[in-house]
Amino acid sequence: MPRKVPAAFYSEGEPCENCGKDCESRTWVPGWDYWGCDDCVEEARIVVFAEENCPTLYDAVMRSKSVNEVQRAFRLHRESCPKCNPKLEPIRLLEAA
Ligand SMILES: [Zn+2]
Ligand SMILES: [Zn+2]
Repeated sequence: MPRKVPAAFYSEGEPCENCGKDCESRTWVPGWDYWGCDDCVEEARIVVFAEENCPTLYDAVMRSKSVNEVQRAFRLHRESCPKCNPKLEPIRLLEAA
């Protein structure tokens, strides 16, 4: 997916536009249109991934109230979901063969 970064201005030292936390460096979040800290970028990545790949994960993510909860929900969910953890796929296929 091509990233559209508006202006290549230097954004170091600015607060995150989502959570307001001061951060070393910010990343443009495409589609959500804000400069975010690492945590918020991670959250956005997980939500977009969940929306496109797994309704169960999306449910879990939507129930989460903080970035930490989103990350934890994703980790826990991925361990048991073949859609979200491609590493599980070959094991399943081997067993089925
Ligand atoms: Zn943030
Ligand atoms: Zn899943």
